[in-house]
Amino acid sequence: MRLHACAQALVERFDGAVPADVDELLSLPGVGDYTARAVACFAFGHDAEVVDINVRRVLARAVGGESDAAAPSAKRDLAAVRAVLDTVPAPRRPRLSAALMELGALVCNARSPRCEECPIEHECAWLAAGAPSDTVAPRKVQKYEGTDRQARGRLLDVLRGSDGAVPRASLDLAWQRDPAQRDRALDSLLMDGLVEQTDDGLFALAGEA
Ligand code: SF4
Repeated sequence: MRLHACAQALVERFDGAVPADVDELLSLPGVGDYTARAVACFAFGHDAEVVDINVRRVLARAVGGESDAAAPSAKRDLAAVRAVLDTVPAPRRPRLSAALMELGALVCNARSPRCEECPIEHECAWLAAGAPSDTVAPRKVQKYEGTDRQARGRLLDVLRGSDGAVPRASLDLAWQRDPAQRDRALDSLLMDGLVEQTDDGLFALAGEA
């Protein structure tokens, strides 16, 4: 399991303590960009940009005047969050990060934003523009054949069809057209918590390892 590998890395490289630095957090097995920034910000009070779909939607509306967030772009999204964080003194930035996430989750909903209850109602660019609908171009739908989604599906099919954990070789056979894509698909399944790796290196559906 990634959790086990992460715990081992913490003991071996960080004397059993969770690091506070984003780059050090990113060096841990199973820790991605969002998690690293969230831990640095919320657990250690660091001035780190935390970007999730809720934050992107709030900024797209309140700052950008758009009806919704555009497709993710790490560089653009981090810069947008940084610009907002820098409007307050550094010690207040972790709380502002938490507030943006909560606002997006509870008030600035994807389908029906509750603008009349919103604390930034009078500063919101989208509301000031008359709340125009569908200002963001619909995302292109990726064809299924040959996509990462199909690769993920093939790997899951192997795990669903087996009685227990399987070796890596079984997964390799399920998607031979592009090893790098297969690795990416497996990694994303592990990151999403849909697949687990056992201590002896086998793979299984989450909860069945
Ligand atoms: S005023 Fe409405 S659209 Fe603007 S940030 Fe608040 S909830 Fe979202």
